[in-house]
Amino acid sequence: AMRHLPYFCRGEVVKGFGRGSKELGIPTANFSEQVVESFPPDISTGIYYGWACVGNGDVHKMVLSIGWNPFYRNIKKSVETHIIHTFKEDFYGEILSIVIVGYIRPEKNFDSLEALISAIQEDIEEAKRQLDLPEHLKLKEDNFFHLPEGKIGNNH
Ligand code: ADP
Ligand code: MG
Repeated sequence: AMRHLPYFCRGEVVKGFGRGSKELGIPTANFSEQVVESFPPDISTGIYYGWACVGNGDVHKMVLSIGWNPFYRNIKKSVETHIIHTFKEDFYGEILSIVIVGYIRPEKNFDSLEALISAIQEDIEEAKRQLDLPEHLKLKEDNFFHLPEGKIGNNH
Protein backbone atom coordinates (compact mmCIF):
# COMPACT_ATOMS: atom_id res chain seq x y z
CA ALA A 1 0.00 0.00 0.00
CA MET A 2 2.97 2.33 0.63
CA ARG A 3 4.71 1.82 -2.70
CA HIS A 4 3.18 4.88 -4.38
CA LEU A 5 3.54 7.23 -1.39
CA PRO A 6 3.85 10.12 -0.98
CA TYR A 7 1.33 10.64 -3.76
CA PHE A 8 0.57 14.18 -5.00
CA CYS A 9 -2.74 14.90 -6.66
CA ARG A 10 -4.79 17.90 -7.68
CA GLY A 11 -8.29 18.10 -9.14
CA GLU A 12 -11.78 19.51 -9.04
CA VAL A 13 -14.21 18.63 -6.24
CA VAL A 14 -17.36 17.06 -7.70
CA LYS A 15 -20.69 15.87 -6.33
CA GLY A 16 -20.43 12.45 -4.73
CA PHE A 17 -23.01 9.72 -4.34
CA GLY A 18 -25.03 11.52 -1.70
CA ARG A 19 -24.33 8.78 0.81
CA GLY A 20 -24.93 11.28 3.55
CA SER A 21 -21.36 11.58 4.73
CA LYS A 22 -22.06 15.15 5.77
CA GLU A 23 -25.03 14.04 7.87
CA LEU A 24 -22.62 11.75 9.73
CA GLY A 25 -20.44 14.78 10.40
CA ILE A 26 -17.76 13.45 8.08
CA PRO A 27 -18.13 15.13 4.68
CA THR A 28 -15.88 13.71 1.97
CA ALA A 29 -14.80 15.79 -1.02
CA ASN A 30 -14.93 13.56 -4.09
CA PHE A 31 -12.56 13.76 -7.05
CA SER A 32 -13.88 13.39 -10.59
CA GLU A 33 -13.67 10.14 -12.49
CA GLN A 34 -10.82 11.51 -14.65
CA VAL A 35 -8.70 12.31 -11.60
CA VAL A 36 -9.36 8.86 -10.13
CA GLU A 37 -8.39 7.26 -13.46
CA SER A 38 -5.01 9.01 -13.21
CA PHE A 39 -4.19 7.13 -9.97
CA PRO A 40 -1.87 4.12 -10.17
CA PRO A 41 -4.20 1.23 -11.04
CA ASP A 42 -2.65 -1.01 -8.40
CA ILE A 43 -2.98 1.46 -5.50
CA SER A 44 -4.64 -0.35 -2.57
CA THR A 45 -8.17 0.49 -1.52
CA GLY A 46 -8.45 1.54 2.10
CA ILE A 47 -7.97 4.50 4.41
CA TYR A 48 -4.99 6.84 4.13
CA TYR A 49 -3.84 10.08 5.79
CA GLY A 50 -2.17 13.15 4.41
CA TRP A 51 -2.38 16.88 3.75
CA ALA A 52 -4.99 18.80 1.80
CA CYS A 53 -5.72 22.32 0.65
CA VAL A 54 -8.69 23.89 -1.14
CA GLY A 55 -7.78 26.46 -3.79
CA ASN A 56 -5.05 28.69 -2.35
CA GLY A 57 -6.24 28.07 1.20
CA ASP A 58 -4.41 26.74 4.23
CA VAL A 59 -3.01 23.22 4.31
CA HIS A 60 -4.92 20.91 6.69
CA LYS A 61 -4.65 17.34 7.87
CA MET A 62 -6.92 14.88 6.08
CA VAL A 63 -8.04 11.28 5.95
CA LEU A 64 -8.75 9.77 2.57
CA SER A 65 -10.62 6.75 1.40
CA ILE A 66 -9.87 4.90 -1.81
CA GLY A 67 -12.81 2.60 -2.33
CA TRP A 68 -14.92 0.91 -4.96
CA ASN A 69 -17.34 3.20 -6.74
CA PRO A 70 -20.95 2.04 -6.43
CA PHE A 71 -21.90 4.16 -9.48
CA TYR A 72 -19.82 1.88 -11.68
CA ARG A 73 -20.88 -1.39 -10.06
CA ASN A 74 -17.66 -1.36 -8.04
CA ILE A 75 -15.40 -1.79 -11.08
CA LYS A 76 -14.00 1.74 -10.79
CA LYS A 77 -12.48 3.37 -7.74
CA SER A 78 -13.57 6.47 -5.90
CA VAL A 79 -11.28 8.81 -3.99
CA GLU A 80 -12.79 10.84 -1.15
CA THR A 81 -11.01 13.29 1.14
CA HIS A 82 -12.25 14.30 4.58
CA ILE A 83 -10.36 17.44 5.55
CA ILE A 84 -9.84 17.76 9.30
CA HIS A 85 -11.05 21.34 9.45
CA THR A 86 -14.41 23.08 9.74
CA PHE A 87 -15.24 25.04 6.60
CA LYS A 88 -17.80 27.84 6.55
CA GLU A 89 -19.12 26.74 3.15
CA ASP A 90 -19.08 23.86 0.72
CA PHE A 91 -16.43 23.98 -1.98
CA TYR A 92 -17.81 22.05 -4.91
CA GLY A 93 -16.07 23.04 -8.14
CA GLU A 94 -12.92 24.20 -6.38
CA ILE A 95 -9.48 22.69 -6.85
CA LEU A 96 -8.43 20.32 -4.10
CA SER A 97 -4.72 19.59 -3.74
CA ILE A 98 -3.65 16.61 -1.66
CA VAL A 99 -0.58 14.68 -0.75
CA ILE A 100 -1.25 11.16 0.45
CA VAL A 101 1.36 10.40 3.08
CA GLY A 102 0.55 7.08 4.74
CA TYR A 103 -1.78 4.12 4.92
CA ILE A 104 -4.01 3.37 7.91
CA ARG A 105 -6.07 0.27 7.12
CA PRO A 106 -7.96 -1.67 4.44
CA GLU A 107 -11.64 -1.07 3.65
CA LYS A 108 -14.02 -2.77 6.04
CA ASN A 109 -17.73 -3.44 6.34
CA PHE A 110 -19.31 -2.39 9.60
CA ASP A 111 -22.27 -3.93 11.42
CA SER A 112 -23.69 -0.59 12.45
CA LEU A 113 -23.50 3.11 11.75
CA GLU A 114 -22.08 3.60 15.25
CA ALA A 115 -19.26 1.16 14.51
CA LEU A 116 -18.51 2.91 11.22
CA ILE A 117 -18.44 6.35 12.80
CA SER A 118 -16.21 5.27 15.67
CA ALA A 119 -13.80 3.60 13.24
CA ILE A 120 -13.58 6.84 11.27
CA GLN A 121 -13.01 8.82 14.48
CA GLU A 122 -10.12 6.47 15.27
CA ASP A 123 -8.75 6.95 11.73
CA ILE A 124 -8.88 10.71 12.26
CA GLU A 125 -7.00 10.44 15.58
CA GLU A 126 -4.39 8.18 13.96
CA ALA A 127 -4.00 10.65 11.06
CA LYS A 128 -3.51 13.57 13.48
CA ARG A 129 -0.83 11.67 15.44
CA GLN A 130 1.04 10.47 12.35
CA LEU A 131 1.02 13.84 10.65
CA ASP A 132 2.63 15.50 13.69
CA LEU A 133 5.77 13.41 13.15
CA PRO A 134 8.58 15.61 11.73
CA GLU A 135 8.99 13.49 8.59
CA HIS A 136 5.30 13.93 7.76
CA LEU A 137 5.01 17.54 8.94
CA LYS A 138 7.57 18.62 6.38
CA LEU A 139 5.27 17.63 3.50
CA LYS A 140 2.83 20.27 4.71
CA GLU A 141 5.34 22.88 3.58
CA ASP A 142 5.93 21.25 0.20
CA ASN A 143 6.10 23.58 -2.81
CA PHE A 144 3.23 21.59 -4.28
CA PHE A 145 0.90 23.57 -2.02
CA HIS A 146 2.46 26.95 -2.79
CA LEU A 147 0.90 27.82 -6.09
CA PRO A 148 1.82 30.77 -8.27
CA GLU A 149 -0.50 33.72 -7.59
CA GLY A 150 -3.74 33.61 -9.52
CA LYS A 151 -3.12 30.19 -11.05
CA ILE A 152 -5.99 28.24 -9.57
CA GLY A 153 -8.81 28.49 -7.10
CA ASN A 154 -10.76 31.42 -5.74
CA ASN A 155 -12.38 32.74 -2.59
CA HIS A 156 -9.84 30.99 -0.36
P1 ADP B 1 -20.98 14.27 -1.66
O1 ADP B 1 -21.71 12.97 -1.71
O2 ADP B 1 -21.45 15.28 -2.71
O3 ADP B 1 -19.50 14.08 -1.73
P2 ADP B 1 -20.68 14.78 1.19
O4 ADP B 1 -21.77 14.60 2.20
O5 ADP B 1 -19.58 13.75 1.18
O6 ADP B 1 -21.34 14.94 -0.24
O7 ADP B 1 -20.07 16.24 1.42
C1 ADP B 1 -18.93 16.61 0.67
C2 ADP B 1 -18.82 18.11 0.44
O8 ADP B 1 -18.85 18.81 1.68
C3 ADP B 1 -17.50 18.47 -0.21
O9 ADP B 1 -17.56 18.36 -1.63
C4 ADP B 1 -17.29 19.91 0.26
O10 ADP B 1 -17.86 20.82 -0.68
C5 ADP B 1 -18.04 19.97 1.58
N1 ADP B 1 -17.18 19.98 2.78
C6 ADP B 1 -17.36 20.84 3.83
N2 ADP B 1 -16.46 20.61 4.79
C7 ADP B 1 -15.66 19.58 4.36
C8 ADP B 1 -14.54 18.90 4.94
N3 ADP B 1 -14.06 19.22 6.16
N4 ADP B 1 -13.97 17.89 4.22
C9 ADP B 1 -14.47 17.57 3.01
N5 ADP B 1 -15.52 18.17 2.41
C10 ADP B 1 -16.14 19.18 3.08
MG1 MG C 1 -18.43 12.68 -0.49
